[in-house]
Amino acid sequence: MKYEQVIGLEVHCELKTKSKMFSSSPVSFAKTPNTMVNEIDFSMPGIMPSVNKKAVEYALRVCHALHTEIDDLICFDRKNYYYSDLPKGFQITQQQRPIGKNGYLDIIVDNQKKRIEIERLHMEEDTAKQTHFDDYTLIDYNRAGIPLIEIVTKPVLRNGKEAAIYLEKLRQIFLYTEVSDAKLEEGSMRCDINLSLRPIGSKQLGVRTEIKNLNSISNVQKAIEYEASRQEKILLSKKEVIQETRRYDEGLRKTVLMRSKGNSVDYKYYSEPNILPIRLSQKWIKSIKNHLNMMPDVREDLYIHKYHLSSIDAKKIVSSKELSDFFNETVLLSQHYQIICNWLLGDVLAYLNKHHLKLNQTLLTPSYLSTLINLIEEEVISSKQAKQVFEIMMKEGKDPRIIIEEKNMKQISNKEELTFIINQILDKNTESLIDYFHGKDRVIGYLVGQIMKETRGQANPKSTNELLIQLLEERKG
Ligand code: ADP
Ligand code: MG
Repeated sequence: MKYEQVIGLEVHCELKTKSKMFSSSPVSFAKTPNTMVNEIDFSMPGIMPSVNKKAVEYALRVCHALHTEIDDLICFDRKNYYYSDLPKGFQITQQQRPIGKNGYLDIIVDNQKKRIEIERLHMEEDTAKQTHFDDYTLIDYNRAGIPLIEIVTKPVLRNGKEAAIYLEKLRQIFLYTEVSDAKLEEGSMRCDINLSLRPIGSKQLGVRTEIKNLNSISNVQKAIEYEASRQEKILLSKKEVIQETRRYDEGLRKTVLMRSKGNSVDYKYYSEPNILPIRLSQKWIKSIKNHLNMMPDVREDLYIHKYHLSSIDAKKIVSSKELSDFFNETVLLSQHYQIICNWLLGDVLAYLNKHHLKLNQTLLTPSYLSTLINLIEEEVISSKQAKQVFEIMMKEGKDPRIIIEEKNMKQISNKEELTFIINQILDKNTESLIDYFHGKDRVIGYLVGQIMKETRGQANPKSTNELLIQLLEERKG
């Protein structure tokens, strides 16, 4: 029997709003534990939660980016369960009316487009963070109440690779909509896998397991690959897969049982009585759409068709929002699109890697980069000089024109000026001339070297070469 994998992903994303989903305590990371909490986060008697408008706006940005239908009536529900990471004894979530539903995200797998259908996108609040030790657990309530969105796909993914591509693309959506820093290693983006197998051709869903605690996209892929083969072995030996929650153990490279959970957990959902439904204005929903940043797919398209970059280059630029924003600003100032791209992917990235910096931590601006590129293209400086200017520009944050001025670096391209200099050199090197007349072309290199020395590297190499040969030929005759 041959089986196919059926995978649905649930992704949680922490929103980087200033305050929490239902209270004014700050959204913070890496602060002293249990200092960023108030009575609302704990649900003390008598408190009233109020909905964070910014969190709704962020959720709507992602809804728009994922093309979901939007429910303009915001309703919340209580999901009741008892656990130490949930001081209230319930989580406020959107069970009955998710803010977004029926969306999609297109991914490219092996050069083919595949539409990943999104079932729902809803808002909820985060739980406290627990750190487990051998015989005790520490709890940090700073995380309790941080706004979350959860995005659930239909069971349409078919293997680990597709899941990894989907997650990377979704992560980019979070970054491009500027709602989260979306780091799986730090938990601001989290992914649960639901996976079952079924005989190829069957339309029915098999029994699934859920896998939690994935801290990187590559681990999601590995967990899926392991779990699919585990389930396949069970099915091939005519046993049954048990519906349960497992976790991925990175050390063992295996999924291991966390808890057996049937589909019978009853959270006794009911409407959150302290938050009345909120009707959103269509105007506000639309204005959020209109102010949405351009998404990666659209940028990639633009780079290929308007700026004539190769699809590989376009993808590389788009893979970082920072780089892409920088490119967008630079192409407004210089039309040498491919050269801008080359500089960004070449010297600029190399500089960032070497100094462990991000683009916005450097002194580089789109204006400096475009000026530098224009100076090269107008042959004011050679590309060799440009490298020097670049280093100084990065270190000192100076306009390249000023650097060139200060270092007296201008390239000599003027024909008369060059002719004069070359003739001087030829007059001084009569032996080389004789060698040249005897067919020893090697002397050209030597003579160019002399010219460069004389001009302190400022002679335009291309014009120098051409002119030198021309003048040598003239002297021959
Ligand atoms: P739960 O309430 O347990 O989270 P849902 O029905 O909301 O379950 O589904 C959660 C995710 O699991 C969705 O992405 C869904 O597509 C996926 N899923 C549901 N049933 C299966 C199955 N039999 N095999 C694989 N994935 C499934
Ligand atoms: Mg689930």
